[in-house]
Order: sequence, then C-alpha cells, then structure tokens
Amino acid sequence: MCGRLQEELRFCCTAPTLISYWTARYSWADDTHQFLDQLGADRAISRLDSADLTRVQKLRCGWLPVNRRLSREDPDRTAGCATCRAVDSVDKTVDHVLQCPSPVRRGLLTERLSSLTATLREWKMAPMICQILSAAAHHWILIPWGDFEIHVPDDTPSRQLVLSAIKAQAEIGWGLMFRGFLSSDWRRIQDAFFAQRTGISGKLDTGQYWARRLVSWYFETFRIAWFQRNLDEHGSDEFGQRVILKARLACTIRRLYAIGESFPDHERHPICKDSIGTSKITPTRALDSTMAPMICQILSAAAHHWILIPWGDFEIHVPDDTPS
Ligand SMILES: [Zn+2]
Repeated sequence: MCGRLQEELRFCCTAPTLISYWTARYSWADDTHQFLDQLGADRAISRLDSADLTRVQKLRCGWLPVNRRLSREDPDRTAGCATCRAVDSVDKTVDHVLQCPSPVRRGLLTERLSSLTATLREWKMAPMICQILSAAAHHWILIPWGDFEIHVPDDTPSRQLVLSAIKAQAEIGWGLMFRGFLSSDWRRIQDAFFAQRTGISGKLDTGQYWARRLVSWYFETFRIAWFQRNLDEHGSDEFGQRVILKARLACTIRRLYAIGESFPDHERHPICKDSIGTSKITPTRALDSTMAPMICQILSAAAHHWILIPWGDFEIHVPDDTPS
C-alpha cells in the first residue's frame, strides 16, 4: 500500500459520513454538498461494471494509488513531465493523471476534449451549457493554474439559473466534474431547455437522462487517462517493463541503505553503499580471496545451513589432510 493511500484511509476513517468525508477532502463549505447532482452521478455509477465501479469509487474518494512514488520511471521519460519523474519532493495527484503534459496522455486528452462540443450538441444540450462545460474542461486540463472567466450575455435563456450553476460549480470545483461532482443546476437548465422545445423533444430528452450521460462521459475520459497512465508507469512492452523494474529495484536498494544509515554499526548491512552496481558479492566470493580454503568452505556452509535449514543437523567433514 502506498503512502498516499494510507494517509487517505486514515483521513477517511475520521469522517462520520461520505458527504462529510468529501466536504473535508475537497475543502468544501458546510453547505456545498447541497449543490451536488447526486441523481445524475448515481445513475451513471449504476451502469458501471464491477471493475469500472471500483475505479470510479476510488476516483471520487481520491483513493486511487497514484503514489508518492519512489520508483517513477517513464519509458518516455526524456519527453515526460517533471511530476512523473523520480523527484521525491513532488507528489502526484489524481488530478495530475488528467493534467499530465506528457505527450501521449496530452494527445489523448486533447483528442477527447476536441470531440466534447460535438458530443454535447448531439445530446441536444442547451447551447450555453455546451459552451461553458467545453471551455471549463479545456481550461482545467490544459491551463490548470490560469484564470477562468465566463461571460454570460444578458439575453441568455435561464440566465439566473446559468449564473447560479456557474457559482455552484465553482464552489464544488471545476476539476471535480471529472469525478462526477456536478451542480444540479446544470440539469435544471437542461430541463428548462427541453421544456421550451415542446413537440421536438423525445422521451429520453430529460435532465436526468442528460445528466447521467454527461457524468458517464467524464468517467470515460478519466478511464482513458488512467489506462494510459498505467501504461506509462508500468510499461506497455517488455523492454519498458524491464527498464521500470530495474529502476524500481535500484531505488528500493538505495532506500534500504538510507534506512540502514540510522542503525548502529553492528546492525548495518555488511556491504558498503559504494559497492551497489559495481560488483556482485556472494558469500564465497567475499570470503575466498583472503581466507584459508577450509575456513571459507565451513563458514559458507554454516551460513547457508543456519539460514535455510535452521533446525536441521549440521555436520562438517574435515579431511585428514586438512592443513592445521
Ligand atoms: Zn506527469
């Protein structure tokens, strides 16, 4: 279990309800959860299979193991981003899975976002919502720390509701849309939009159905980013996997030696730090250069026996012609 997950679980265990956990987790005001469109999210969640459901629930609670990784190694590391490299001081977050500027993931996300406006129009979305949600998604992923301003013209239908939705979503967090946390005002605007289209709207043209599809779109976008992130982290081919495994082993050894430095001398590992990577040391090679052959043989056999067969009998044959 990674360090981040332990922290999250400890944090979660102190919260009496899921809503109160989210409130603390996302630094919401006490009443922010009242703006949430739980209906749309619940409908979208109910359509997930068990593997997707597990991932989405972890996504919503922030439990995905993005890790404070000690062994980050990206096969595309020369062109990768600084956060994804092995820099211990920089934490990766669930948001970074979407916002990572590494070329492959950014390419996938850009392609996904560029189809968003067309998708929303196909779902008969009110033009103003379509424009706002597309701009917000682009902005949050591509310019995460920049200012985000939305102009709502005076003649916008349901203008007060649109302003209220923007305010509520800003309180919830624009980035949390990708975790299925949307303001219920968006659904109300959409219901009003469908109501104005009397005679044109079909039976599926309801705010509920629309909200479910929208939340599902965000979940699917995260799934695309998460799968690519896993390929980046764990290797998409045999060579990449070997490179990552080697880096992970080297990092683990360095970490163990760093821990060993705080131990008293007699408890430290006998191999010095400088020898890592320069030579392969086995008991017999360490002993046989300077030691009398018989002592070398007895001590190696005794060490192997004591570690591997601690309770077995141990017999030593000393030939008659042994020196000394
Ligand atoms: Zn990154």
